[in-house]
Amino acid sequence: MKNKVYFIDFHTTFQRSIFDKIGDTLSQAGFKDTIREHDKVAVKLHFGAETNFSVINPRYVRYFVNRILALDAKPFLTDTNTLYAGNRVNSIDHTNLATRHGYARSVVNAPVIIADGLVGQSEEIVKIDTKETKEAHIGSDIHHADAILALTHMTGHEAAGFGAAIKNIGMGCASRKGKLAMHSTSRPSINCDRCVGCDRCVQWCQVNAISIKENGKAHIDEELCTGCSMCISVCPFIAIRIKWNTSSEFLNTKITEYAHAVTSHKRDKMFYVNFLNNITRLCDCANIHGEYIVPNIGILFSKDIVAIDRASIDLINERAGKDLFKELYPDILWENIFSYAEKLGMGSSDYELVKIE
Ligand code: SF4
Ligand code: SF4
Repeated sequence: MKNKVYFIDFHTTFQRSIFDKIGDTLSQAGFKDTIREHDKVAVKLHFGAETNFSVINPRYVRYFVNRILALDAKPFLTDTNTLYAGNRVNSIDHTNLATRHGYARSVVNAPVIIADGLVGQSEEIVKIDTKETKEAHIGSDIHHADAILALTHMTGHEAAGFGAAIKNIGMGCASRKGKLAMHSTSRPSINCDRCVGCDRCVQWCQVNAISIKENGKAHIDEELCTGCSMCISVCPFIAIRIKWNTSSEFLNTKITEYAHAVTSHKRDKMFYVNFLNNITRLCDCANIHGEYIVPNIGILFSKDIVAIDRASIDLINERAGKDLFKELYPDILWENIFSYAEKLGMGSSDYELVKIE
């Protein structure tokens, strides 16, 4: 039997609001079976880069939070800190940004808890046996949640081809060390033009891989460095460089493996909602107000992470009248994500689309 993906468009009337449609769809899709009384539920989403306006409207988020509260469970909004410097690099800046973007408790009715802690080092290791990953580094508060509701804003993606639920879970649940492993096969290095020799990274490196050299600049011993990425988050001068050297193929393999680490741990305690509106060529990490590449389509719901992402791509391509993602990123073999995810037993691309009016 094919796994179901439920779909609503944004058409509403005075008699039937978008929340009526979402509510009916959640009931039909069996959302409440994912969550038990007293469950701590991670509502995984992306709060958007500073000048990005495309992310999921907080009023939608409040609706989902209230549905979880109605099941006597405990929702919290969550994401993990970024690998790179910016306003989401530690949980103080990250939660402040979430508040600025409207995800304040008074609006969304739930706290924001950044899953990998103050500086992206709070993680749990999940052992898996996949091609590129034997140990996945997952933000602890997502790992310790009883259930996950993945609210995903669908976008294109400059390195992965597209960003949907698999990326929201695979990349978005990884601690900083996990993200570094996806983006780089090298250790971090020092940008001597920026380094002021303040010694802060030296104090935080747990394996003594960093020293200040005679020129007054820090130096990382690659033999000693474990790639924990702590130095990246503690340097106030953005002087630790990441070598973004992995291929799109490797990145997509790692993202899929990390998503597998999360979904295989949570099993039937996951539910996915993909928003197909405000769809941009770049992902929500982009610090720009990107142009929308296709008209708004609707919202998808499923318990199958592979099916919902495949259905999202198919609906976008149908609306665009062409293979939009292949046109945008002809050199990225993003379809491999689906075949690999199926091979790992994460779900099926062969889905049944159920439209709810
Ligand atoms: S924390 Fe940054 S500025 Fe300070 S020594 Fe380390 S790399 Fe240089
Ligand atoms: S990545 Fe971790 S181990 Fe490597 S130099 Fe930085 S703090 Fe030290």
